[in-house]
Amino acid sequence: MCSIIGCIHNSNLDVANVLVESMGKMEYRGYDSVGLATLSDREILIKKGIGRVSHVNKELSLNELKGEIGIGHTRWATHGGVTQSNAHPHVCARSEIAVVHNGIIENYLDLKNQLKNKGMTFKSDTDTEVIPNLLSSIIIEGNDLKNAVIKTVSKLTGQYSFIAMLKDKSLVGVKNHEPLILGLGSDGYYLSSDILGFAKHVDKVIYLDDEQFVIVNPSGYTIYDFKGNLVNLIPTKISKTSENVEKGKYEHFTIKEIHEQTSTVLQSGIESLDEFDTFFNILKTSKRVYVTGSGTSYNTALVAKYLFPKITGISIEPIMSSEMKFFDDCFNEDTTLVAISQSGESTDVLNAVAFAKEKNSKILSIVNTTTSSLAKASDSFIGLNCGYEVGVAATKSFTSQITILYRLLEKFDPSQKISSQLNSVVDAISKILENQKPVIDISHALKNINNLYILGRGVHYPIAKEGALKIKELSYIHAEGFAAGELKHGPLALMDEDTYVIVINPKDDGSTYADNLSNISEIKSRGAKIIGVSDEFNQIYDYWIPLPTLPKLFYPLIETIPFQLMAYYLSIERGNDPDYPRNLAKCVTVK
Ligand code: GLU
Repeated sequence: MCSIIGCIHNSNLDVANVLVESMGKMEYRGYDSVGLATLSDREILIKKGIGRVSHVNKELSLNELKGEIGIGHTRWATHGGVTQSNAHPHVCARSEIAVVHNGIIENYLDLKNQLKNKGMTFKSDTDTEVIPNLLSSIIIEGNDLKNAVIKTVSKLTGQYSFIAMLKDKSLVGVKNHEPLILGLGSDGYYLSSDILGFAKHVDKVIYLDDEQFVIVNPSGYTIYDFKGNLVNLIPTKISKTSENVEKGKYEHFTIKEIHEQTSTVLQSGIESLDEFDTFFNILKTSKRVYVTGSGTSYNTALVAKYLFPKITGISIEPIMSSEMKFFDDCFNEDTTLVAISQSGESTDVLNAVAFAKEKNSKILSIVNTTTSSLAKASDSFIGLNCGYEVGVAATKSFTSQITILYRLLEKFDPSQKISSQLNSVVDAISKILENQKPVIDISHALKNINNLYILGRGVHYPIAKEGALKIKELSYIHAEGFAAGELKHGPLALMDEDTYVIVINPKDDGSTYADNLSNISEIKSRGAKIIGVSDEFNQIYDYWIPLPTLPKLFYPLIETIPFQLMAYYLSIERGNDPDYPRNLAKCVTVK
């Protein structure tokens, strides 16, 4: 989980500037340290440091490295602490090969010991450093580059992609269950974990498949599979919207993306209209339907569990992607797995899909990156169509996922007239965004608390969980979402005069409102303070976050917005960076 990038210019231009800019765009994938290596006059030059790209570049002037070939990395440490010596690139003991790596080499300790026995020395605690040393030791034995790569990957276990830079002016890009894309530009060749890294410079891209590698040099490229067979992959044109990711008038991507929901909700799924029919046909004939995802996408799966049975007659079983392997006996050719993911590259989700595929289940996915591994692995996919989401905490992708669930419900029951009501949903979102004062004031009042509890009942329970997840991610305050009825079965023990509880409490036909009010009384009797999120004021609330009035079916979509805002403002109040919360990364490509 990190970003890797490589570039060979066919002019005499230095690549460092391009690579620094690319790394800045991709650091959402990992941002604890940064490094760059270039090749200048047959010498490998390296600069690396701890922190974000802009910080390290300011300190070390990464962009001033000379050379027309280079590789770069933004790290999310898995093996070895966040230190300068563990930052990538790593070079082999003979300083002839530099490597940037995404993922994990599971057998690195064995390999490291074998290489040490051959006299090689190591400077870092990472798993990565075995790659340049192994490759170098195999080349020294007399193998050409192609065969050396084949022999190297045959010894590595784990899920990884890496780029190696060699002194003969070649780059090797290797893909094995982590992303890697080759970009073809008029000024040279690019390799990257994400199109975002080079969108500005290329017109066409080649998506390498797993167990493939490419050898690139200034005059061309050749792709092979891990057995050494030549592979012919057709370049595809890229959409130029990929390069357009700026903060505009906003201070952070997160608040920009929260505001974008007034349009992204309407756009969700609209480029996949035929696929809605495919989903409908597959779902209605499936004996069992499981929905999987991680983090926010798992909360979407929970929303599906509540929304689907009544309108479709289908019962939905959500399974966290990371827990999938414990459900062996559930999958067969009569079952369907719906996988939900923003990036489509999350390792847990991809592993869950691989597991169900092995049992011949149908795979449907709801995914933002339609060129992702998840989209490729699916029988059919619906694109979120919400544009790049840079903020590490999911915001607009969540409401787009939920909107797609609604659009699917309409396939089962057209009388729900979902699409024609989405404009009023968007008006309601606009109203919340136009009146942020209650949320800003509450965030200020709550900035020093240590714990926060969020209650919701029925379909509002997954929203309580998602609200708590946002607050944890961005503010680092411990927040928990509970099903309101569970309060008396345990969490009530946590309530005292210092406790704050947010209750999602829309005024509905009686299915949740009255019961919530009883829970609120129980909480207040223990001295805790209540923040009501509701379309109706009630004097029992200590604070009130008003919601616009809307047909009740759509409440999950709008009531998540105040939590996104609260997480954002709490993060600012506490001096955090809302776009890049500590210890997290946008796309989790490790187990
Ligand atoms: N396993 C490597 C490390 O810890 C790469 C991690 C990453 O994907 O950023 O340095």
